[in-house]
Amino acid sequence: MIAARYDGFIVDLDGVVHLGWSALPGAVSTVNTLLDTGKRILFLTNDPRFTRRSIADRLRGLGIPATPDMVITSGSAGAARVAPGRVYVIGSAELKDEVRAAGGEVLSDVDAHLADRVLVAGHSGFDYTELRAALRACSAGAELVATNRDATFPMPDGLWPATGAVLAAVETAAGRRAVSVGKPSPEIFRVAVDLLAVPRIAVIGDREDTDIAGGRAAGLDTILIGSGESHADHIIPALSGVL
Ligand SMILES: [Mg+2]
Repeated sequence: MIAARYDGFIVDLDGVVHLGWSALPGAVSTVNTLLDTGKRILFLTNDPRFTRRSIADRLRGLGIPATPDMVITSGSAGAARVAPGRVYVIGSAELKDEVRAAGGEVLSDVDAHLADRVLVAGHSGFDYTELRAALRACSAGAELVATNRDATFPMPDGLWPATGAVLAAVETAAGRRAVSVGKPSPEIFRVAVDLLAVPRIAVIGDREDTDIAGGRAAGLDTILIGSGESHADHIIPALSGVL
């Protein structure tokens, strides 16, 4: 039983707990068993589209008693990185709320050249107007920050383009590389470790390049959901495999 070796888990969401917003088989009962047996859980997702509160609400809808303080997103980490100050955001309305909640002033497309920082996150409304505004901000000296670099995320009908695909357009236009705050950056794992505040912590995720690489870089044990070549300490076919 892998779970007995740890006091707390940093758990990825997409491809681990749910796919789209449908729970994966056995995932909800596994999370609840871990919580019932006194394990601490922090959900860490590179999905920047939703606030922590919104994700906690959705997890409760699946049957997991999650609260916003049990969730970290690449969006909340990005908001903390760019605020305070004037920010041009390529991202969802919820991400803009997260930036405002962190104390940032979110600028319109027209005012983008006044930005101290540009925050780039994948969202379904990404368009050429945003790309132009981000380029104007960067040309005027704004710092370029990204929530993450994932090229894709899994959905029930296959892979969808993620922040990395949008970021490539911005970086190409601006001619420079962004600072990325999401997984695999070790800093976001350190924030999660501080919040868990227990000694033995493992990272559970389905991506080698973000969950496993980042967990290892932060000095944590790692558990891969999936199969094949991996540097993870454990490989299991589904989340229920930790029990
Ligand atoms: Mg995932």
